[in-house]
Amino acid sequence: MTDPTPTPGIHHVTCIAGDPQRNLDFWVETLGLRLVKRSINQDDPGTYHFFFADAEGTPGTSMTFFPWEEMSQGKVGSGQVSRTAFRVPEGSLDYWEDRFEEYGVDYDERIERFGSEARNASEEASGAQPRAETVLPFRDPDGLPVELVAVEIPDDDPTVPWTEFVPEEYAIRGFHSVTLWLADPQPTEDLLETMGLERVATATGGTEQTQGEERTRFEAAGVVGQYVDIVPAVEAGRQGHGTVHHVAFQTPTDDDQEAMRTAVQSAGLRPTQQIDRHWFRSVYFREFGGVLFELATSGPGYTSDEPLEELGGRLVLPGTFADRREEIEAQLTDVTVPRAGVAEADD
Ligand code: ZN
Repeated sequence: MTDPTPTPGIHHVTCIAGDPQRNLDFWVETLGLRLVKRSINQDDPGTYHFFFADAEGTPGTSMTFFPWEEMSQGKVGSGQVSRTAFRVPEGSLDYWEDRFEEYGVDYDERIERFGSEARNASEEASGAQPRAETVLPFRDPDGLPVELVAVEIPDDDPTVPWTEFVPEEYAIRGFHSVTLWLADPQPTEDLLETMGLERVATATGGTEQTQGEERTRFEAAGVVGQYVDIVPAVEAGRQGHGTVHHVAFQTPTDDDQEAMRTAVQSAGLRPTQQIDRHWFRSVYFREFGGVLFELATSGPGYTSDEPLEELGGRLVLPGTFADRREEIEAQLTDVTVPRAGVAEADD
């Protein structure tokens, strides 16, 4: 069997929220992402599905939420994506701390990762140290742990900043990484290598409350959503508000996806058949540590049913759901998408 094409990195991350309006206000106004799609959970059409991304919904930039109001608060623990990190331009963390103060965001002191104590796979050969990075951890209003990581944004970066609420020089530029908390990391580490990620560094120490934090980094081939970090953690998580539902990795074409599907099946996992998610096609499987993984194609993309300038402007009902618009709209809570320069209306 030939190896599958390595994944370029994370495609999207999907999380569970409570109140839909509070979720929209935070991710659009406070963090400055663009609502690129307002839709429904295709397995539970009485629930919204919000997609927040860069200006064009570039693969590797979309953070999506199911606001399941009736669900209870979750608990972050092993078997989950414990942290979702976004890239921001180097030098922008002061701006973000000021913004978090202004908006009353619950944030922590900055953390340095992969500093001098880190060991790098290529270090012995090259003598090079892995690059230290500065991380600003915070929680969204549902308690979801999120991080901003300052990185150098290349001139030809594939992401396109959305500048309605946050100026370009500070804007979030897609995913940096996800951190998986796992009771038994080894099988998942082998799986990531099967998916084409490379083990690049291990760092010990840090300030997170995980048992004897040892963070092992895996790097994907692309520029955005490039890293998966693994941290051993014993206490099991529980799904609910403020937790990640699944992480999707890019398999750009159907052929890439089918090859990756075969590879994970050969590794002993049980992937679904391809499912049409309207803006991409998906395969799902629960990996060895219990985290739900998805493989998602790059196309057709969020502009396949709305023009770029109108993304997120209306409720989009894919496929046959369109025939049930009246019934579905009646079940959904009314929400208002924040607009810059528009005062909140009480209508
Ligand atoms: Zn997904």
